[in-house]
Amino acid sequence: MELKCPDCGKPLAATESGAHCENCHQDFTLEARCPECHKPLEVLKACGAVDYFCQNGHGLISSKRVEFVPVTR
Ligand SMILES: [Zn+2]
Ligand SMILES: [Zn+2]
Repeated sequence: MELKCPDCGKPLAATESGAHCENCHQDFTLEARCPECHKPLEVLKACGAVDYFCQNGHGLISSKRVEFVPVTR
C-alpha cells in the first residue's frame, strides 16, 4: 500500500510509529478508517491481535480492508 503526504503528495516513508515525509520533514501517524463510510474506526486490541470496529453500522472490519490515512501528530 502506498501512502502519500497529504500536504505535498509525495510518497511517505514507513516508520515504526507511522509514516514520514522526507519532503516536508513531517511525521504522521496512521489512522484506521472504514472503507465504507471513511470514518475513523475503533481499534480493539486483544491478545496481540488488533480488530477494527466501525461504529456507524459496518461492524468489524478486516485489517486487509481498513484504509490507513496519514494524520499529523
Ligand atoms: Zn510532504
Ligand atoms: Zn463504516
